[in-house]
Amino acid sequence: MSSGSWSSQQTHRPVLPPNPTAMCNWRRVRNHYKRCGHYIDLPEEEIKCEDRYCKFSPAHPPDCVPPECTKRCWQYHQFPEQYNPVIDNICPSCIQIARAQAAAR
Ligand SMILES: [Zn+2]
Ligand SMILES: [Zn+2]
Ligand SMILES: [Zn+2]
Repeated sequence: MSSGSWSSQQTHRPVLPPNPTAMCNWRRVRNHYKRCGHYIDLPEEEIKCEDRYCKFSPAHPPDCVPPECTKRCWQYHQFPEQYNPVIDNICPSCIQIARAQAAAR
């Protein structure tokens, strides 16, 4: 059984999309302050990947432009990550109110 004639087929493989979990995304952090029950949204943070096939990545070459880029590169961010850390304290605005009340006395 010889399979030598099939080896040339291997070079023409479709380009698979990069692993979506490695893409750039946004991190949204919402702190939950347990002592006062308030939620504070922090500014969104952009998490960069190092994928050459991601338009937002620092590894994406500047000469990769449409229409080629739109065909083979990711053009959008991955679904944002949500973090809701619970902080065992009162929130900064409640701290300010408490300070202002203390100063007014
Ligand atoms: Zn990316
Ligand atoms: Zn591109
Ligand atoms: Zn509060």
